[in-house]
Amino acid sequence: MIDDNYPELLDYIKTLKVIDTHEHLPCKEEQRIYETDVIKEFLSHYLDRDFVSSGLQAKKLRKIINEKIPVNQKWSILKPYWKNVKYTGYGRSVSIIAKELYGIDNISSDTIEQLNSRFLETLRPGHFKKILKDLCKIETCLLCVETIDIDYDPVEERSAVCDRELFSPVYMITDLVYPYLWSHFERIEEESGVRITSFSRYCEAVEAVIEKAYSYGVVALKNYLAYHRTLKYRRVSRCAAEEQFNEIFKTKHIPDWHVRYAASGKDFQDYIFHFILDIANKKNLILQIHSGIQEGNGNILSNTNPVLLSNLFLEYPDVTFDVFHMGYPYQNEMAVLAKNFPNVFIDMCWTHIVSPNASINALLEWIDTVPVNKISAFGGDYMFIDGVYGHLRLAQANISKSLAIKVNDGLLCMDEAKNIAKMLFYDNPKNIFRL
Ligand SMILES: [Zn+2]
Repeated sequence: MIDDNYPELLDYIKTLKVIDTHEHLPCKEEQRIYETDVIKEFLSHYLDRDFVSSGLQAKKLRKIINEKIPVNQKWSILKPYWKNVKYTGYGRSVSIIAKELYGIDNISSDTIEQLNSRFLETLRPGHFKKILKDLCKIETCLLCVETIDIDYDPVEERSAVCDRELFSPVYMITDLVYPYLWSHFERIEEESGVRITSFSRYCEAVEAVIEKAYSYGVVALKNYLAYHRTLKYRRVSRCAAEEQFNEIFKTKHIPDWHVRYAASGKDFQDYIFHFILDIANKKNLILQIHSGIQEGNGNILSNTNPVLLSNLFLEYPDVTFDVFHMGYPYQNEMAVLAKNFPNVFIDMCWTHIVSPNASINALLEWIDTVPVNKISAFGGDYMFIDGVYGHLRLAQANISKSLAIKVNDGLLCMDEAKNIAKMLFYDNPKNIFRL
């Protein structure tokens, strides 16, 4: 029974300021894609995968995304599948956007053109601020950046990397741990200023890149390699790692008009991630790490169980591990990890649209098991701006439902529930990321 307290909590939660723990938006509004329409934009990720999962051929989806055809024609291809996908979190997020941002109650053949023309009107400067600041009350979004040299202006240092009015940069270390093209090594050389001629020089370059990232105001490092490999990072000898590293030079002669692979093996990756964690431990850095469900149609889910990270949690006690996506569907394992390890924190980024119901239930479980200062409620994890709005509205509803149940059960009074909500959306991420 949540009826009595839910509306009061939801009203209160909608007034709260938010720290958004994770986004993939363009670093600056002017870098968004302007050659678009509402369908291309809303299917840039997530919901497109539900369409494919429900039977839409990937080839047809690519046609919708890549070709310039009228939106009503695109909709006629999508329509048979919309009735299957509209109830998922991804579908619901898009319906919320259509309704609350564009005044369209029901996406259909009759409304798709109107939705598109209203959407196109928002492709002008100021829409990012309107969504993030005015409507979502987001103080800052932690934004993933691939490189630290984007538009760097030494005079206007605050604008380095991304728009600092909206974002706080998080540096992706994926290419450092898992470089597989010569272009990756060349970028690392460029960012570090170190010529990579040996394994020792490579380690030197990695350290220099991390130092440079922090000098530009990065607030955390991020590893999303659970898309590519297991989260189990073994301790391996420097010798084994160096042997695998040396393999990369076998392809150095391949001409640059050809794809130039420079693959290195798992021992190398394991060693380099431990090497980075050692730096992070020495400097008390924060590491955001992907666990659980991978975006896309098909991957190896068992690679992503956060339990596989236990050796790292034990061996690097001074690193703050912000573990993503509540480990879904391993959210019970996540509870035990966050309960037992002082350096492990639960991040609900992406989760409210992956499964609204699992998010509600997980929070019910965690309030019973995990200290409440260890959970962050929201990270939009979207590549398109309106998605952040749809996701936040779902997150606010989900957290309100969980807390309303706890109030009705007599575990919390209303004031305590409101205080926990403020911790989850604002105080906790502010403290965890030292903002
Ligand atoms: Zn993400």
